[in-house]
Amino acid sequence: MRVGLGYDYHRLEAGRKLILGGVEIPFGKGLAGHSDGDALTHAICDALLGAAGLGDIGQHFPDTDPQWKDASSLTLLAQVVERLRAKGLRVAQVDSVIIAEAPKLAPHFARMRETLAQALGLEPAEVNVKAKTTEGLEAVGRGEAMAAQAIVVLESA
Ligand code: MG
Repeated sequence: MRVGLGYDYHRLEAGRKLILGGVEIPFGKGLAGHSDGDALTHAICDALLGAAGLGDIGQHFPDTDPQWKDASSLTLLAQVVERLRAKGLRVAQVDSVIIAEAPKLAPHFARMRETLAQALGLEPAEVNVKAKTTEGLEAVGRGEAMAAQAIVVLESA
């Protein structure tokens, strides 16, 4: 069994789509980034790569590579899962938390879990998503940014 930890932090920008866990959430602001800015999926990718001893998302998908400009982060996730498979590893479980002041994310958890589980080759019950606010404090609390953390367990395939 192998365990990995992932973290990501993105600025919020007016007029961008908000994508979290591969799901578009109506908001009016979205996460800035070279790809779609999906901080939750990026944190999960980093946790998976960490658990496999494969470095981090920036090494595999550099933000200088035009191939990943505006790319769906689910595409990156699918590629990470493929790289794990090539090492004889499969994902057993994911837990995660999004840190955001607004909007309310709980109504979107079920779709995020289904969407991420499909990309990971898991059942939604093995992919947990939670959310926290910072009670108005710091950049996240002022609505200037969102963060995400993830932890994963890998098993031998
Ligand atoms: Mg990111």
